Amino acid sequence: MLSNLKNKVKFIKKTIYITIILIFISSNSNIAHSEKVECNDSINKDIIKEANCDQKRVIDILLLYDADMILDREWQNNIFNRLEEINKFYYENYKIKWRITDTQKFRFDKNINNLSSLFSLHKKEISKLTDNIEAKVVLAIVERDIKGIGIAATFSNVVMVSDASKFKNHINSVIVAHEFGHLFGAWHTQRKNDFMLFSGANKLLGSKESNTIIKLMRDYNFDPKTIINNHMILNRISRLYSRHHAKGEIDPVARLLTDEGNSLYLEKKYSEAIKILKRSNNYYGRWGNTRMILSKSYYEIDFLEDSFTEYTRAVFFGAKPDKEHEKNLRNKFIDLQKIDSTISNPFELNN
Ligand SMILES: [Zn+2]
Repeated sequence: MLSNLKNKVKFIKKTIYITIILIFISSNSNIAHSEKVECNDSINKDIIKEANCDQKRVIDILLLYDADMILDREWQNNIFNRLEEINKFYYENYKIKWRITDTQKFRFDKNINNLSSLFSLHKKEISKLTDNIEAKVVLAIVERDIKGIGIAATFSNVVMVSDASKFKNHINSVIVAHEFGHLFGAWHTQRKNDFMLFSGANKLLGSKESNTIIKLMRDYNFDPKTIINNHMILNRISRLYSRHHAKGEIDPVARLLTDEGNSLYLEKKYSEAIKILKRSNNYYGRWGNTRMILSKSYYEIDFLEDSFTEYTRAVFFGAKPDKEHEKNLRNKFIDLQKIDSTISNPFELNN
C-alpha cells in the first residue's frame, strides 16, 4: 500500500517535471518563431511607422563635403552612379530609395589623419544639420587619403566616408550601403556574401541576418531617442544579434545605450549616464568603452571605489588607459586618506 502511494507520488512528480520541460520548450520555440521578421511586422507600431515593405520608402540625404573640395562634373556623375547602384540593392531588398535633397560644405579638421577620430570630433555637430531641413540622413564625404574608408554610428543619422579618387568604383557603393546599414542597427557579420561583412565587404548582397534587421527597422527615423526606452524592440534586436555576428562584434543595443550614456556624461548628467551605461553592460558587458565612461561618471559623483573597479575593468576589456583620469582618481584616494587613514587606496599594491 505504502509503496503504491510512493509510486503514485513519483508518477505525479515525473509528470509535473515533464510538463515543465514541455512548457519551456514550447515557450522557447515561440521566441524563435517570433524572430522571423516580415515586412508588415506590427512590432514597429508607435515607435516607428508600421513597417510595410509593399510601400516604398524614400530617405532624403544631406550631402556634406569638404569646404576645399570642388564638386565637379566627374564627382557629381560618380555620386549619381553610386546612388543608382545603392538604390538598386536597397530597393530590391527593402523597398528603400535614397536621394540627395540637400548639399552643404563643411570644414573638416585637417590635422586629423584617421576617419574614426574625425567622425568623433564632428559627429554631434553634423547630426544636428538635419534639424531644420528635409533630409534625414547626412552623407559626409572627405576627399583625401586618410586612415579608414567609412564610418557610421549605430542607429544615428550620420555616415562619413573618405575617398581620394572621386567615388569612381563600385566598392564605394558597397561602402556607403554598408554604412547606411549601420544606421538601421545592422551589425557586422561573418557572411562572405554580405554587405555587412565585418571587413572587406565587396558585394551588394544581404545575408539573412542583415536583411532581418533592416526589414525590422526599415521605417526607423534615425533618432535614437525614439527607441532608447523601448525595451521590447531593443531586446528583440539584441536577440537577433546574438544568433549570428562577427567575432568580437559589440551588441548594437549596447552601442546605442553607450552612445547615449556618453552624451549624458558630457552634459554632466552623471547619475542618468550611470543608469544607461549599466543597461548597456547588461546587453554587452565586455566593452571597455562603456566601463571607462562609467568609471568617469562614478568619479564625478564621488563613488570612488566603483570608479576604480570600472576603470580596471575598462582597461581589462581593451580600453586605452586614460592617464589623466587615473591620476585624478588616485589623488582623490590620497586626499581621502589624509582625512581618514583607515581608507585604503586601491592603487597601492598589497604586499
Ligand atoms: Zn561597418
